[in-house]
Amino acid sequence: MSPPPSPLPPLTALSAPNLEWRADDIGDAPYSSVHDDVYFSRHDGRAETTHVFIDGNRLPERFATWREARPFVIGETGFGTGLNMLCAWMCFERHAPAEARLHLVSTEKYPLPRDALARALAIWPELAAHARPLTDQWPEPLSGVHRLWLSERVTLDLHFGDAAERLSRLDGRVDAWFLDGFSPANNPDMWQPALYEAMATVSRPGASFATFTCAGVVKRGLRAAGFAWRKVPGFGRKREMLCGEIAEPPHDTRRAATPWYMPPEALPARHVVVIGAGLAGTSVATALARRGVRVTLLERDGPGAGASGNRQGALYVKLAAETNPQSRVYLAGLLHTRRWLATLDSERDQLWSDCGVLQLALDAKEARRQQRFLEYHRLPESVVKGVDQAAASHAAETPLNASGLAYPRAGWVRPDVLCRHLAAHPRITFHQGEARTLERDADDAGWRIALADGTALEADQVVVATAHEASKLTPLAGLPLQPIRGQLTHLSVPPGAPTLARVVCAGGYVSPALDGVLSLGATFDPGDTDTTPRAADHARNLAEFEATLPAFAEALRAAGATLDPAACEARVSLRAASPDKSPYAGPVPVREAWLDDYAVLGSDARRAPTTPGQHHPGLWVSAAHGSRGLASAPLCAEVIASRLCDEPLPLERELADHLHPGRRLIADIIRGNATLSA
Ligand code: SAM
Repeated sequence: MSPPPSPLPPLTALSAPNLEWRADDIGDAPYSSVHDDVYFSRHDGRAETTHVFIDGNRLPERFATWREARPFVIGETGFGTGLNMLCAWMCFERHAPAEARLHLVSTEKYPLPRDALARALAIWPELAAHARPLTDQWPEPLSGVHRLWLSERVTLDLHFGDAAERLSRLDGRVDAWFLDGFSPANNPDMWQPALYEAMATVSRPGASFATFTCAGVVKRGLRAAGFAWRKVPGFGRKREMLCGEIAEPPHDTRRAATPWYMPPEALPARHVVVIGAGLAGTSVATALARRGVRVTLLERDGPGAGASGNRQGALYVKLAAETNPQSRVYLAGLLHTRRWLATLDSERDQLWSDCGVLQLALDAKEARRQQRFLEYHRLPESVVKGVDQAAASHAAETPLNASGLAYPRAGWVRPDVLCRHLAAHPRITFHQGEARTLERDADDAGWRIALADGTALEADQVVVATAHEASKLTPLAGLPLQPIRGQLTHLSVPPGAPTLARVVCAGGYVSPALDGVLSLGATFDPGDTDTTPRAADHARNLAEFEATLPAFAEALRAAGATLDPAACEARVSLRAASPDKSPYAGPVPVREAWLDDYAVLGSDARRAPTTPGQHHPGLWVSAAHGSRGLASAPLCAEVIASRLCDEPLPLERELADHLHPGRRLIADIIRGNATLSA
């Protein structure tokens, strides 16, 4: 029944709709000239939304009695102006208990430009407060999943792309559907069996739906997919519309060929211990705390003590010339981090800057790679674009010797300040201590963490976020993690020295000076665990700096700066990497069980076992963020918190699987070289 897995389509910029603005009864309303249809009723869009989608799904009654720990999930086809979702949110606020949460998932193939969205929603001044977080966080028109935080209790995942394709990749389940979209006669491409099948597969048992249309093709498609429907009076002049339910959704077979990635059952999460207070740990802790979970953040040192304690780090990614899952995760992560940073209350401290990043092509090989990248991808220019030497120099406000890629939305972050800021959430208790052992508690209901000082912590669930040290805890033994030494060079610049307007990177990176200090670096030495600063590493960083920005370095010298290793300060830390250089974010496999359950794959990789992957109950890991943790850790935190709280994921199912901590183990089993001791 479920659609067979198909490869992810290329990342692409989505076209904006061809809009006309028509003076209707309700005001200045958008009209699609391509689909020859309205976005909402020209007489009363809000009343239509209430009648068709809100009441059609009986949302007031269902919200009023919602007592689950997980959020109520609404799925929609055709986000349009967001009117339906904003009305659902307002209905939820009016009817749901104070502790209930709402999760909105909506697909959109032709996203409105931000100004058009704001213009359409301006019809209803009473929606202004709800529309603001939507327009403020409105994502780039890039295919993929974009998570927005509408309020403390309401999350919106925008899945940009075709509805059927997007829903077939949804990792999550839906309680109520808004089956919207232009009329089936004007938009037949959307109203296809694949859409109803995808909806059915990701429905909860008993999930409802409502739609404005009564077209035969829709009735037949819904019925074939397992939805029962009934005709009810439509809105305004429409005589009838449809609503109904799916009693028993079909078995989800999308992981039939990879049962090891089947998500574990949701468990209670009253109290979660997060071990490690770097960016991975503090971002998971805040993601959980935002969901009402009580969190203890356990850390040997202080928040941001390891690699996340740097005073300034570049928020950027290096994307493969041709899209692969890793590049998708990192690009999604970059855009996610930027949206997320903008939602953090940072009145006290400056946490970040979106000054933009230039990635220079200093040699012919990199120039060819960037050229291939630009030819292969069709990404929005607001995400990444090619710049020639003159444009790059203009952007950086200093003469440069090379062309490059410009990431206008990227920039720099103060990871140390950010980690402290995140750890200060009122539902997070900071606990200084070192975890020595991690085991199931006596009645196997939760976890017991024995600390170096002889005390212990108990928790329903645990998230390990201790970079390369994660595999020291027995249940994670065998998780391949390599430490990577990195030394940053802090170079003081005299007052009045020239400034840099962008983060500039080539081999390493240089950020605009912060409080009179430039951060250069960092070195990258896999396997080296010595954290003593080295003059030779300053020399390497300075040489890289001079090679990247020769004119700027000269101008600094002329202004009196000393580009001498002896005059530089250092910060050395260890980052962690996985063998394939993608992060780990997800549940921790039970190694012995996987070796047993999947042993057959060692002799015949085509014989797919059916046993779902066994995971340590309520044990999660966020690690291997390497030197791109600013782009990956916050998204991985949402992946873990969403899974832990039984919510839809902010990534396509394929990309969530790509992050699975068991991926190396299963690859080793298939190759026949996995052992119990790793
Ligand atoms: N629900 C919207 C609201 O509250 O404003 C109105 C939806 S409007 C009538 C239909 C929407 O469906 C448009 O935004 C259109 O771009 C979108 N759409 C059309 N075909 C689609 C497809 N195949 N996949 C996803 N979205 C589609």
